[in-house]
Amino acid sequence: MNADVEEVKSRINIVELVGEYIRLTKAGSNWRALCPFHNEKSPSFMVSEERRSWHCFGCGKGGDAFSFVMDMEGIGFREVLEQLAQKAGVPLKRFKKGDGEQESLKPKLFNILELATKWYEKNLWEGKERDKILQYLRERGLTDGTIRKFRLGWAPDGWRNILEFLQKRDYKINEIAKSGLLVEKEANNNSQVQNSGHYDRFRGRIMFPIQDVVGWVIGFSARVAPGGDEKNAKYINTPQSELYDKSKTLYGLHLAKAEIKKKDEVVLVEGNMDVIASHQAGFPNTVAVSGTALTHDQIKIIKRYTENIKMAFDMDSAGQVAAKKSARVCLENDLNVRIVLLSSGKDAADVIRENKEIWE
Ligand SMILES: [Zn+2]
Repeated sequence: MNADVEEVKSRINIVELVGEYIRLTKAGSNWRALCPFHNEKSPSFMVSEERRSWHCFGCGKGGDAFSFVMDMEGIGFREVLEQLAQKAGVPLKRFKKGDGEQESLKPKLFNILELATKWYEKNLWEGKERDKILQYLRERGLTDGTIRKFRLGWAPDGWRNILEFLQKRDYKINEIAKSGLLVEKEANNNSQVQNSGHYDRFRGRIMFPIQDVVGWVIGFSARVAPGGDEKNAKYINTPQSELYDKSKTLYGLHLAKAEIKKKDEVVLVEGNMDVIASHQAGFPNTVAVSGTALTHDQIKIIKRYTENIKMAFDMDSAGQVAAKKSARVCLENDLNVRIVLLSSGKDAADVIRENKEIWE
């Protein structure tokens, strides 16, 4: 295992890795940032590429690539090793489980959600409903490149599609259930599902994978099929899980973070479609709140990249209430916030589809 760790460490560029989470600026031969682990106004957090280490002169924390990701994501050494090994392309052959450390479910859940994402993608591009769904997405203005970039997919109708797909790959029902992909039967009396305790949560829906800051899929937001009943549950989402916490998630951040740092500004919108449309229109520094109003945890994440927020929420009463609440949280956290007013009744995706110069 030590050989694996050394191998992974030697292949990971610590500046790039830390730079995925916080905004670094060059300072001599090192890199400097506002410390993500304590509150400060002037940067005392340093990263050394040469020594492959980081240190904060403010709070005294420091370490290597592993300890940084452990502290940042609040996960254990084993999970970080698996994440970084995958990133570095190091197969963990010598890595055996059960040397005293408690085995964690998280890496398994990441694998389950990655497999599910690929399966939904395959169903979108190669499945029976391909033409209908692609036509809908293209009519909403999305290019094929954008659809692939955000990894949109299609969950066909049926009670046990993803369940059986994952069981065939040796995942147990309780593991699949913990990923949020299944619903427990109890509350449902449908005779078709009486023989199993669980069934697919997402059926006949367009799938939007929700990814964490490094791009791992942690959950899904799923839109009702075109022509379906939009009044009831137009979107349903993965419930709170070991991986997915909506109050700590910003949709699109893994694709937006570099541009947010570069422009020193983030554009905050309400929905997934708004993010996708804005990225496609040439504004990749756009992310969405995954609930109604911005939370303190989301602000903490944004502050790693920028202190400047432009908020373009939906121009309906719910959107404007959320904007007001969010603006207050921003001001409490010393962020510079501006509210962008769109035409009445519109959301960002509508505005961009009609005329992207107005959005610009
Ligand atoms: Zn610090």
